[in-house]
Amino acid sequence: MSFFKEELIRLQKSSLLRSLKTVNPLPSGHATVNGRDVILLCSNNYLGLSDHPALKAASIEAINSYGSGSGASRLVSGNLALHEQLETSIARFKGTESAILFNSGYAANTGTIQALVGRGDTIYSDRLNHASIVDGAILSRARLVRYPHNDHKTLRELLEQDKNTGRRLIITDGIFSMDGDIAPLKELAEIKRDFNTLLMVDDAHATGVMGNHGRGSADLLGVTRDVDIQMGTLGKGLGSCGAYVAGSRELTDYLKNCSRSFIFSTSLPPAALAASIAAIDISTSSEGEHLRAALESNRALFAGLLEKAGLNTMGSCTQILPVMVGGAKETMEFSKVLLEDGVFVQGIRPPTVPSGSCRLRCTVMANHEENDLRFAAAKIIASARKLGVIN
Ligand SMILES: *Cc1c(COP(=O)(O)O)cnc(C)c1O
Repeated sequence: MSFFKEELIRLQKSSLLRSLKTVNPLPSGHATVNGRDVILLCSNNYLGLSDHPALKAASIEAINSYGSGSGASRLVSGNLALHEQLETSIARFKGTESAILFNSGYAANTGTIQALVGRGDTIYSDRLNHASIVDGAILSRARLVRYPHNDHKTLRELLEQDKNTGRRLIITDGIFSMDGDIAPLKELAEIKRDFNTLLMVDDAHATGVMGNHGRGSADLLGVTRDVDIQMGTLGKGLGSCGAYVAGSRELTDYLKNCSRSFIFSTSLPPAALAASIAAIDISTSSEGEHLRAALESNRALFAGLLEKAGLNTMGSCTQILPVMVGGAKETMEFSKVLLEDGVFVQGIRPPTVPSGSCRLRCTVMANHEENDLRFAAAKIIASARKLGVIN
């Protein structure tokens, strides 16, 4: 037997085997999954922008003008006017001097962290940070210290005890991707000032969603000036794809020279760039305000229904609403039953979350209809009772 097969069998036995579903997103927060119409409760397209007419029109026009691919990495011949326009637009949106694009959030985190720190330096990373941050830390060869989730007091103690002379980087998700809670950025900014460290925030889930005009978590908590490196993605709330790092001109010039995922990868295609520019225009307009208000009222409705039934949503106060289950087997059974009931929610298992904390991860969108959210909540509550998750 090949080791591939052995490993697949091992994963299957521990309920950790992953497989792909064929999904076709539909309007109003629906989708077809393997051919069936269901309520889509596991997309990060929070504002519903991915099929917005303005984004689609901008993409089509960009393809007609510039073609389908950029043809090279930015530093070779793949630096189109659209890349520069989008970077200017992101810097204005974020209120920073400059911004630099990456092909994905994964590439932004690995490429940025690897460029900022190295041997002899230390990364202080929240224990629940995204996998791409952990991978960037490993790539960098810096010492990695994972502090307890959102525990800024322990982080301060760790820094007080730190006698190393190298650079120090504190890094946190803005909104945590699997728990839906928000990082204590005010406290982290104070620590950053007291210990003269760098501070980096990953706003994959807050971009377009949180803060004034959807600028993100640092804006929401009033610490934009303290966050040296504001990373965010264009593929979630903004409905396109790719990612950015926003900060000083020196930072982005440095990354253009030292970030390997920026240097050694073909740049984003015209369609994605034009869609992102259109998405930022919407996020900063009154339509953006309406979408965020709709998202918030959907979130409040859905969270209220789950919590009233006694489900543990882990203190989330955002559009990411986990429903704690525990074991992998029950979680996957829960998700399977819901899909049969017409509700598409993914179960989340290790290595995405720590073992024993498997959960459903529900994500609410601005374009969900109230009756659909009520229907989905009722199905989740009924299944939770049947499976013994609640009484
Ligand atoms: C999704 C996500 C990423 C990766 O972004 P992609 O653009 O999907 O590669 C990075 N960080 C966090 C917190 C995420 O949730």
